[in-house]
Amino acid sequence: AKSAGGNRYQFFSKGLNQKAQERASIETALRDALRNDRLTLHYQPQLHLGEGRVIALEALARWHDEGLGTVPPATFIPIAEQTGLIHELGASVLRKACVQCKKWHDKGYPVIISVNVSIKQMMQEGFSEMVVGTLLEVGLEPRYLDLELTESMLMEKAAESVALLRMFKSLGVQISIDDFGTGYSSLSYLKNFSVDRIKIDQSFVRDITVRDDAVGIVKAIVAIGHSMGLKVIAEGVETQEEEQKLLTCRCDQVQGYLYAKPMPSAEVDAYLADAFVT
Ligand code: C2E
Ligand code: CA
Ligand code: CA
Ligand code: CA
Repeated sequence: AKSAGGNRYQFFSKGLNQKAQERASIETALRDALRNDRLTLHYQPQLHLGEGRVIALEALARWHDEGLGTVPPATFIPIAEQTGLIHELGASVLRKACVQCKKWHDKGYPVIISVNVSIKQMMQEGFSEMVVGTLLEVGLEPRYLDLELTESMLMEKAAESVALLRMFKSLGVQISIDDFGTGYSSLSYLKNFSVDRIKIDQSFVRDITVRDDAVGIVKAIVAIGHSMGLKVIAEGVETQEEEQKLLTCRCDQVQGYLYAKPMPSAEVDAYLADAFVT
């Protein structure tokens, strides 16, 4: 028993050690990628449910490293947050996304750009100045920028966020609460935040065709959102059946593989040319 325990411990510690090494090599490579501007963005359309009109595009960070291969954001974003690289990464993503959005405007597609923001990034001194500075430099009106903040992160920093969100509201920058329903906020608490939109998490969308109680939950989220003057978008929509259920729930907007996957900007150009044809 003693030796088995010893083995188990060794196995466990080796596992942890490997993880730490992997993280360290990702950190080094990410630092290098940022220095050499090797992160790119893909964009996924957000549409009006029913009319099918394109409202916005969500910018999603992409990273392909020579040695590590393609590293998913679910891996490198948390590492960026823990190492402080998120500030540089976030500023770079914001700038790229705004520049791209301005190009679409110049081509005659008046879309909104949705940018994911880590709460760590938002809480850093000078964040709002960075956002305003970027908008001014790029020449993008604030109302065409939407910042997506996850519910769970927002709730962790609830007290500190209120004033900042209010400030963005006064500037005209839009705010969406991402992954809504997965955190622990009470819906009534939303009133304290100056937000424009809630994004119902994919897990609910997945459930609505499977479980009747999930339809009830989504209906309730939409109804309360509307009563507070918010738009409601469902993410991760993959099937026609899910779309039908979302229509009965009176959801406003949709995003997911059913409509389009995240695409590089050149593909989005073609997509928008098609979508905005008159
Ligand atoms: P998220 O903001 O919740 O983004 C939605 C994720 O779902 C994206 O994964 C997207 O590619 C994926 N997705 C879209 N439609 C569908 C669908 O129909 N079905 C399924 N199964 N998935 C769908 P992705 O691009 O891997 O991003 C993962 C997460 O990484 C994002 O989740 C976001 O939290 C974070 N992230 C990505 N880019 C950035 C960034 O620039 N900054 C920050 N702070 N976080 C980012
Ligand atoms: Ca998002
Ligand atoms: Ca989400
Ligand atoms: Ca998510």
